[in-house]
Amino acid sequence: MILISEIFGPTVQGEGALIGVPTVFVRTGGCDFRCNWCDTLYAVEPSFKQQWQAMTASQIMAQVQELSGGMPLLVTLSGGNPALQPLGELLQLGQQQGYRFAIETQGSKLQPWFAQLDYLTLSPKPPSSGMPFDPARLQACLQAAGEQTEVQLKLVIADETDYQWAREVAQKFPEVPLSLQPCNLQAATPDQPEQEADLTQLNAQYRWLVERAGSDRWFDARILPQLHVLVWNNERGV
Ligand code: SF4
Repeated sequence: MILISEIFGPTVQGEGALIGVPTVFVRTGGCDFRCNWCDTLYAVEPSFKQQWQAMTASQIMAQVQELSGGMPLLVTLSGGNPALQPLGELLQLGQQQGYRFAIETQGSKLQPWFAQLDYLTLSPKPPSSGMPFDPARLQACLQAAGEQTEVQLKLVIADETDYQWAREVAQKFPEVPLSLQPCNLQAATPDQPEQEADLTQLNAQYRWLVERAGSDRWFDARILPQLHVLVWNNERGV
């Protein structure tokens, strides 16, 4: 059984190399991290466990099919940390039906079914998250990808310390396509579900990131905003 926090869509991917691609999101429940600025605490904190549902791969695909009108599209597996769940059967079942699968995970845990993925986005957490970074574990996750799996790194940047850390990560993994993303420091939380993101600050942070990377002549990183935050702010389920 797979612990599910929510399934929603169709919408578009708002981050990373697949930005703008139509997708249905399957968000799993549970995470081995607790980042300072997590924007999905309802899929992380054990106090929300009663809202999560244990589902089979067939039940999940039935919901995905309903949301997509039976038209195969990209399914994005997110969390929480979806790498904590047994997703191999879901991938097999969905791919048999023509769906493609992308996962977003922090690279703290690998699974043999990473090799079945169409897209593997690894998003190790920067110093501002308060979480540890283990390059050897990240390397192992990259190696677990299959020959057909497209891998990318997505790094969230809140400040200069995060930026310097991102430079080091890029130097350690020069062969992996990488995107940088300004950090939403005013995500909605269970305590403050109505909290609005500060779009002026996020735009300023984006401009700073473009200038910062440009001043270092760092031109092989893609720099992207969180599209869904610009469009829907902190709204959930989009
Ligand atoms: S890894 Fe992701 S889901 Fe888990 S606590 Fe950090 S931001 Fe939240």
